[in-house]
Amino acid sequence: MKCSRCVSINHCKDGLIKGLQRYKCKECKYHYTEERKSDVKSKQVKRQAFELYLEGLGFRAIGCCI
Ligand SMILES: [Zn+2]
Repeated sequence: MKCSRCVSINHCKDGLIKGLQRYKCKECKYHYTEERKSDVKSKQVKRQAFELYLEGLGFRAIGCCI
C-alpha cells in the first residue's frame, strides 16, 4: 500500500472508513484508504448466479436470492 500523493510506503493505520482500512502517510501526513476490490467480488457473484442456473433453479429463483 503506497501513499496516493507522495508514493511513500511509510504509513500507519488510522482506523476504518466504510469498512475500508484507512492509512495516514508518515511522510506527507496525507490520509488515504485501501482500494476497493470490486472487480473480484462482482465476478464471484456472476459465477454464483451461473452455478445456480446450472442447478436448474432458473432465472426467477436467482432474482429472488439477489
Ligand atoms: Zn504521502
